[in-house]
Amino acid sequence: MGKYVRKLYFCRICDKSHPVKIPRDYAENQKRYPFVFFTIHKYDGDSEEHLDKKEKDIIATLYIDKNYAIRDVDVAWEDSSANIISEYDTQKLVGFLIDHVNDLQDKYDSLMEKYAILLESSKEKSNKSDNNNS
Ligand SMILES: [Zn+2]
Repeated sequence: MGKYVRKLYFCRICDKSHPVKIPRDYAENQKRYPFVFFTIHKYDGDSEEHLDKKEKDIIATLYIDKNYAIRDVDVAWEDSSANIISEYDTQKLVGFLIDHVNDLQDKYDSLMEKYAILLESSKEKSNKSDNNNS
């Protein structure tokens, strides 16, 4: 099994499918399904409507289920001057980041616990060897 799951998603702005690589361990360690995955690509369509937008970035929001099936796709032009990302999307992004921070906090806590235990056991060892030396 590869490190990434390769998928195609349909982008209605370009009117074609784009490849995406989803990190497998990321997809497997979600608390909720479907989960949200953000990806970005350059405009790759040939609609007359978007002739001036070649090479412009498009943000795609993918909703992916436990079997790596892409259930839904939202696409939007990335344009930091215009507030194209809706408040709803912003909230989703913030929620995603908070989940991520919580995960990191959990990992940090468990590492600190292990570290404290290690520290205790190495203290005990050095105490014992001190006793042996005296
Ligand atoms: Zn596209």
